[in-house]
Amino acid sequence: MAESKKDYYEILGVPKDADDAAIKKAYRALAKKYHPDTNSGDAVAADKFKQASEAYSVLSDSDKRRQYDQFGSAAFDGSAGAGGFGGFDFGGSDMGDIFGDIFGDMFGGGRARGGASYNGPARGANVRTSIRITFEEAIFGCDKEIEINYKEECNSCHGSGAKAGTTPATCTKCNGKGKIMYTQQSFFGQVQSVQTCPDCNGTGKVIKDKCPDCYGSGYNTKRKKVSVSVPPGIDNGQSVRFAGKGEPGTNGGERGDLLVEVVVSNHPIFKRQDTSIFSTVPISFVNAALGGTIKIKTVDGDMDYEIKSGTQTDTKVRLKGKGVPSLRNRAVRGDHYVTLVVQVPERLTEVQKEALKTFEDVMNGTTDGEKHKKKGIFK
Ligand SMILES: [Zn+2]
Ligand SMILES: [Zn+2]
Repeated sequence: MAESKKDYYEILGVPKDADDAAIKKAYRALAKKYHPDTNSGDAVAADKFKQASEAYSVLSDSDKRRQYDQFGSAAFDGSAGAGGFGGFDFGGSDMGDIFGDIFGDMFGGGRARGGASYNGPARGANVRTSIRITFEEAIFGCDKEIEINYKEECNSCHGSGAKAGTTPATCTKCNGKGKIMYTQQSFFGQVQSVQTCPDCNGTGKVIKDKCPDCYGSGYNTKRKKVSVSVPPGIDNGQSVRFAGKGEPGTNGGERGDLLVEVVVSNHPIFKRQDTSIFSTVPISFVNAALGGTIKIKTVDGDMDYEIKSGTQTDTKVRLKGKGVPSLRNRAVRGDHYVTLVVQVPERLTEVQKEALKTFEDVMNGTTDGEKHKKKGIFK
């Protein structure tokens, strides 16, 4: 469907070689004149406002203006014939930027909530809480039940906050806009500012007869049990998000999210860094010298490990795949790094001392050890 060609310069009433400042000034004047907030219900004004906004959104962007100068408005209507430029959505987030830009400096900051309409739907706030889990629960994941304060729609008024049989009235102070525009005289002429309406707190509605069950809030707070599924591999300080379990939105906006921060308890043996686990394992000096099988504690349980003869203290051992699962792919696990620490015995019996002295003699070559064997010290 080909729209009739629009002359964006004509709509804004500026010459083709107008600079950015002139375009902005022209749009500002038109936006002020035709803004829906000051022309509620006026379809002609609404259309003029839309056209001016469309023209401004193109002419204020140097790339789009160049395309427009070359190809005309067909380059922006998003139809198949536009060829290569793609559609341009005038109702999307780009408009929000324009409002922020224009009304931002026109009214002295504060972009309108929800774009052109001041009391449009607003998303509810996120709710944050935390849970403590063990080291192992963080590694393998767990399911926990927590209790939160959850605002539920009031059964009596179904969220309106008005007593049964009554409906909230449009706020007379702001005419339902939720915002009030103040005009003040200053040295530089008239200065306008926008403030949240004090009578309706920005909702645009006033409840005369409040619902007795929720005191006019529209919601009742209940303790609610929520089961929290903590994924394997989560780390201390990370949060699990539950969409739509936060505070309710206003004016039909969606609920915020519930964010559960995970606090992981320290482990007496294991330390963790990302997907790696670290621990220290003591081995006897005899085991270190002769080699042998030792037991190493891992998060998967005890495992046997063969140490080589002549193992020195502080030897590092890597147990592949015995670390923490990756949060993104639980099939991929990090490694467990073990530091072997050779223990020197502190208390020895007479027989043990004798055996060690014999060992030293043998090491020094002062005896062949045979006589000790006969004495029954060595078997
Ligand atoms: Zn109620
Ligand atoms: Zn109001």
